[in-house]
This record gives sequence, C-alpha cells and structure tokens, in this order.
Amino acid sequence: MKKKLLFAALALLLAAVVGLIGYDALTGRTQTTDFFAMDTTVSVRLTGCVKPETAEQIKAMVRHLDTDLLSRTSEGSEIAAVNRAHGGTVGEQTAAWLQTLKELEEISGHAFTADLGALTGLWGIGTENERVPDRDEIQAALAHTKKWSINGRTVTVENGAALDLGAVGKGIACDEINAIVRQTKAKKVIAAVGGSVLLYAKNPKETFRVGIRDPRGEANDYAAVLTVGSCCISTSGSYERVFTAPDGKTYHHIFDPSNGFPAQSGLLSVTVLCDSGLLSDALSTACFVLGCEKSEELLKAYDAKAVFITEENKIITAGDLAGRLEITADQYTLVEESQ
Ligand code: AMP
Ligand code: MG
Repeated sequence: MKKKLLFAALALLLAAVVGLIGYDALTGRTQTTDFFAMDTTVSVRLTGCVKPETAEQIKAMVRHLDTDLLSRTSEGSEIAAVNRAHGGTVGEQTAAWLQTLKELEEISGHAFTADLGALTGLWGIGTENERVPDRDEIQAALAHTKKWSINGRTVTVENGAALDLGAVGKGIACDEINAIVRQTKAKKVIAAVGGSVLLYAKNPKETFRVGIRDPRGEANDYAAVLTVGSCCISTSGSYERVFTAPDGKTYHHIFDPSNGFPAQSGLLSVTVLCDSGLLSDALSTACFVLGCEKSEELLKAYDAKAVFITEENKIITAGDLAGRLEITADQYTLVEESQ
C-alpha cells in the first residue's frame, strides 16, 4: 500500500514537472542567449515553443563556422588552410559561399574583393599592429589581391594572396541561424551577429522596428528606425574599427580595392536589407566602397534595399522603403527615395 502511494506521489510530481515544461513551451516565452564569437557579440532572442537546446545548437554552429570554416586567423579553418597551401578542396557549404562571392566580386566591379587579406593584414586595423603603411607597401599588397579562383570545390589562392571573409562571416551566421530556427516552432527570432541581423517572424504580416545606428553618436544612439518584415540586415560603417594615426587622421577598416586605402565614398554608413545574410553583408561592404549612386545597379541586381547615411547628414534610401523609415535624430534629413 505504501509503495502504491509513493508511486502515485512520484507520478503526480512528474506530471507537474512535465506540465510545467509543456506550459512554458506553449506560452511563447522569449529566451535570450548572448555569447562572443566571430570577434563580436552574438545576441539571439527566440520567441515561441523553442527548446532550450536550440540556443545551444545556435551557439555551437556559430562557433563552428568561425573556428572550422571561415576565420583566416583560426589555424584549423578551411579558409586558413587554403590560404596556407595556396589552394585546396573545401567543403560543399564553403564552396557554395565562395561561388556566390566570386559572382558578387564581378558584378560589383571588385568593390567587394574576397582576397583582400594581404592588404587588411598590412593595415592591421583592430589589431595591435595597426598602422598606416607607405604607398609602396600598399601597391605591393594590392598586387596580391584579385588572385583567387574557384572551380567546383577546388579553390586556388596565388602565392602572397589571402582570402579574408571578414565582410561576410556574420551574414553567413545569420543564414545558418535562420536555417536552424525554421526547423523549430519559433514564432519570432531576432539574432544580431555584430553588424548583421536576422529578423524572422512565422507570421508574414508581422513587422519589426529596427534602429539604424547614428554614425556620429554612441553605440545606443539611432539615426533612424526602419519598419520591416522578415529579412536579413547588415550595416557597414566608418565608425567601426577605427584607429587614429600619429598624424591625427582617423582610418577605418573598409578598403577600396582600387587604391588600397579606407574607402572614401562620402558615406558614414550603409545598411542593406535582403533575404540572405551572406548577400546583405557582402553588399553593405561593397556599397560602402561604391557610394550611394554607384550602388544602385548592384542593389537592383540582388533585389536588395538600402539606407545610406552620408557625410553631409543626408539619409538616402534605395529600393522600395517608402513610409518605412523614420528619422529619429534631428541632424539628419531624408532627401531622396529612389525607385
Ligand atoms: P563589414 O564590416 O561587413 O563591412 O566588413 C569589413 C571587413 O571586411 C574588414 O574588417 C575586412 O576584413 C574586410 N574588408 C574590408 N574591405 C573590404 C572589401 N572592399 N571587400 C571585401 N572585404 C573587405
Ligand atoms: Mg559586410
């Protein structure tokens, strides 16, 4: 009799625990996970019936992308391996990313260049070796760019050249997070990987309000707020990763591959929106180099939209963003909505 009672009590306890778990999952609560990877903070908010393991799976996946595939400074990564050996065979995923980037290099007239490693290494911006190289050094580094190719899964990187996927890794992470959460019952996901953000809502009518950082302000100051549905958004700005040289000039980390210097296209930042994180990230870098006008065709080619903030404090949109952008800092003016 005693045994039966104990069994009943245990069963009740178990039911209560199971009930609680079930209740939690059904309420559509929000789980937030923050961690450091890809040299930045990754912040993931999952709303809906999502198991706690999903957050762990996302964390492991982003770290895997960084350490085993994309980082050129992680010895064991595929990119580091092809840089070291001047080529080799990469996995299917990496090959697909590189093929997309090869095409984007061509369409952007090399404003985006995947093998800028010799140049970025020379300037060392964001590292303890940052400095302004002299013109001869820059020319020598430029001679080692645009020297890679891909055929199937076989990559070739000429001696002296180096792939640097710093401009797209965070966008790729957004795509991979997107793939994971779509396998779950998540209702809403916001994943920020440095300057690239994944916005996902199961309900296609749902929208998000996204702040675009004020390039002249602090990290939490916004120049404008965009109202958008599910998409990937990436921002490239000259306020990120800067260093001030002994000559008093400030240099940033987005290079113009045509001259080897930080790009000066009249922009403070550009934010690109499209369905793919890889593309939004690559395009934001390319558009920063090209400037507002020259970016128009490139954005059209990829069916992407953009918000440019210029050095003259103008905010210019490309693509159909009519009525979806609200300026929130007085010094900026919305001057144009192209298309
Ligand atoms: P993002 O912040 O996404 O614009 O990426 C900037 C990073 O991409 C830099 O830190 C470099 O590692 C790399 N990079 C800089 N300029 C270019 C460029 N023109 N094309 C491709 N990658 C670049
Ligand atoms: Mg980018």
